[in-house]
Amino acid sequence: MKKSFTFLLIIAVMMQLTACKNAATEQKNEIIQNKWQSLETVDEDGLLGERVDLWRNNRLWNIAESGYLIDGFEKRPGTHPWQGEHLGKWLHAATLAYNVTGDEKLKKELDDMVERLIATQLPNGYLGTYPEEARFMNVMNASDPKFLADDIEPDEKNAALEAWNQQKYGWDTWTFRYNIYGLLTYEKYFPNDEVVDACKRMADLLIQTYGTEKADLTEYGTRNGISSTTLLESIVMLYERTLDQKYLDFAEEIVAMSENNPSLRLMGTMLDGGSVVHPGEGKAYQLMANLLGYLRLYRCTGNEKYLKTVTLAWEDIYDNHLLVNGGPWSRKMPYNGNPECFAFRDAFHPEKVKVEGCCDATWIQLNTHMFELTGDAKYFNETEVTLINDVYQHQHTDGIQWCYFTKPNEERPPYGPRYHCCGSSLPRGLEMYSSHLAGDIGDILSVNTLFPSTIQLTENFGGGTINIEGDFPLESSATIKFETENKKNFTLEFRIPANSSLSSVTVNGESTKTETNERGFVELTRKWQKGDVVSIDMDYTLEAHLQSGEDGSKWIAFTYGPIALAQKISNMPAEEPFKNLDSLVPTEIKRMLTKSPASETEFTINGTDISLIPYYQTGSDESGSRTYFKLN
Ligand SMILES: [Zn+2]
Repeated sequence: MKKSFTFLLIIAVMMQLTACKNAATEQKNEIIQNKWQSLETVDEDGLLGERVDLWRNNRLWNIAESGYLIDGFEKRPGTHPWQGEHLGKWLHAATLAYNVTGDEKLKKELDDMVERLIATQLPNGYLGTYPEEARFMNVMNASDPKFLADDIEPDEKNAALEAWNQQKYGWDTWTFRYNIYGLLTYEKYFPNDEVVDACKRMADLLIQTYGTEKADLTEYGTRNGISSTTLLESIVMLYERTLDQKYLDFAEEIVAMSENNPSLRLMGTMLDGGSVVHPGEGKAYQLMANLLGYLRLYRCTGNEKYLKTVTLAWEDIYDNHLLVNGGPWSRKMPYNGNPECFAFRDAFHPEKVKVEGCCDATWIQLNTHMFELTGDAKYFNETEVTLINDVYQHQHTDGIQWCYFTKPNEERPPYGPRYHCCGSSLPRGLEMYSSHLAGDIGDILSVNTLFPSTIQLTENFGGGTINIEGDFPLESSATIKFETENKKNFTLEFRIPANSSLSSVTVNGESTKTETNERGFVELTRKWQKGDVVSIDMDYTLEAHLQSGEDGSKWIAFTYGPIALAQKISNMPAEEPFKNLDSLVPTEIKRMLTKSPASETEFTINGTDISLIPYYQTGSDESGSRTYFKLN
């Protein structure tokens, strides 16, 4: 719950925004503002609250109190080659968590972590975890066998760690990317010039190393440099904060280096109508993280080709590389780099493809930022589907353990307490969702979730709060209750989840006509006041999704509204209930499912004792999922 800091925080952020706006008008590149702006989340309840609290009460403290976040900086070179990424990721997720909970113990932990991190910055701006002989240009380029980078296959990890123990060689760009991201997120809520200065000094060192006529950034990271160019987003964030042209220039130099590398060339490949499988060997997490950079760069330059790059890649991922559970899938094939790289459709097999947790988190970030830019419901639908299904499956209900990978069909998701990239990325996905529950778009109050939650309203909407009640997504209904302070005339819009249609809407018990706007939100305009209740009833659509795969195989999977359905299994069953039905169309196949009278989100497959339940409920220490069923 909010503490008294909230008011001061709002004032501080408003002052900062005003300062930025004033400065921005003097720049030649005025930053394109997002259409949709978040309102403050006061509280989450139901499944949403349960899952976000699992991280806030457990893993958040488990990793903070382990010393793992800061040790690599304070006692260089730490114990793991990529130890440096975790603190920046933690600062991002934990800052957003504090913004909801107002937990003073967490605030102190955030302040301490930032202070201790900055205290380890060297006079030349260096803020990483490596010994001097292993920093930046002292490290060989990616083709040198001593070079260690971010994405060694799990099978190779022991060999890599052995090499690390002997050489202590590493890779600073990745650490700097997350340091700048985490510190600037913290600083956005708690303005502090020292934090900005630390980021500027890091960026200046990067410019000295990789700027004009210096080393080619793309030669200092794996997968043809696509891991290193993830730096783009952090540099553009620093430009947004400082409006110093040299950072925007460096950002465009990163793009130029990327485009000059024929094996990377993300923007050129997308603009030429190519596939995400090719640039940087299709390394999925890093490719999407590059897109985050292009999206910010579009906002800072207005250059449409950057936005076009993002939307073309988004369409390719959405059409060809997404599971029904919202997870962007990958698989090692002869034409790509490792199991974390995008592969073509004909590589699909539900027991062989994987979803890296970092891919879920980055897909959520990409969709959330596209949603903020456009206000288009289709993007946040994807954020929500990935959260409800694959992110929750990655998260163990003990609050500590996370999966690195999930597979749609597997006997047991590989939960574990180890600190890895995904265990630090996935909480960022949880918190990104939680910080976008409702917002404003122009003069419209935009309710973006039907999860039970409480949202703080601004004066424009009468002050006070709105409370969303119900048991979404397990029930296809919700109510929005106004606890406002003043009567106000305005438009309320709300988003219907993916694969759902509106059944009825009442306001204070009276049936009401609604309209759906061009962004996909349902609109209601009236004079709103305290005590008003909007009741929303939806119909979830049962969908059957065809998926083609390796060796001409065909598969079917089912969703019900935003929920992916799966059979809970402990051993992969031999029984194939849809075998040899590949000549049927999806509408015929879905008639073979009957809704269980016992539960709103459970189906049985006719003529069998197979139940399909929400995918996220299938994973445990003893069980896993069968999401895709063979058709041929
Ligand atoms: Zn990961």
